[in-house]
Amino acid sequence: MNTARYGLVEAGGTKFVLGVATDKDTIEATTRIDTTTPEETIGAMLDWFREHGELDAIGVASFGPLDLDRFSPYWGHIGQTPKPHWSGADIAGPLQQAFGCPVAIDTDVNGAALAEYHWGAGQGHRSMLYFTIGTGIGGGAVVNGKILQGLGHPEMGHIRLPRHPDDTEFNGSCPFHGDCLEGLASGPAIKARWGMSLSELPADHTAHDIIAFYVAQTVVTMQAIFAPGRIIFGGGVMATPGLIDRVRHQAATLGGGYFKGDPSEIVVLPGLGDHSGLLGAFALTLG
Ligand code: ZN
Repeated sequence: MNTARYGLVEAGGTKFVLGVATDKDTIEATTRIDTTTPEETIGAMLDWFREHGELDAIGVASFGPLDLDRFSPYWGHIGQTPKPHWSGADIAGPLQQAFGCPVAIDTDVNGAALAEYHWGAGQGHRSMLYFTIGTGIGGGAVVNGKILQGLGHPEMGHIRLPRHPDDTEFNGSCPFHGDCLEGLASGPAIKARWGMSLSELPADHTAHDIIAFYVAQTVVTMQAIFAPGRIIFGGGVMATPGLIDRVRHQAATLGGGYFKGDPSEIVVLPGLGDHSGLLGAFALTLG
């Protein structure tokens, strides 16, 4: 019996990372392609996979927004995005046509959530969430082993939050909502207020508690909705030393001891390191 071969795509706004794997621990070949125009980037992606032989399935973990309705003519297309040239770009279709195998596509955040559920910090938990807090903020939920999906993929980075009492001047950086979670706690929102990243600001700067306050509100909101076993926080902002502990502490206070699951246990950093994007793509092929 031949070993199944999987094509993996981590489609990002600045680069596409590609891989070929036989299982999650044997990602044989990888390459990176700059994200320029859909024609160039998708053409180069197809060329690279053709050089690597037959594929039995392809998983794509992509930047969004994405149309994930299997009955939509635009399934697997990028939605309206400020990224030039990419609104409406078809990512899944060219792969299906070129290789004639099943293509699984979802957001990079949902892919990462599913990979953490199977192999990372979410292992053994029926219900878990994954957030990335960086240039943007996205969140995905895995409930009973399945990625939560509605009319579209969730947009947990855009929940509304009460303002920190020392953070009332800034209007927020989200072009759609102003002071939603992404508008208040993403990397650009931090730079817009304080001129540098959170990790560059002194440890006693008030910004640390303000950002932790917003992330902690996200924790208790998600506890109220999902009662998750784990809430995993990745992304550049969360790599700030000490931030995760501030979030745990503030979430415990905000939650008032009401929710099942102590923030000191359920709020964690990701368990997967290198290749976590490709592992997300691989997880999507598992269905
Ligand atoms: Zn928003």
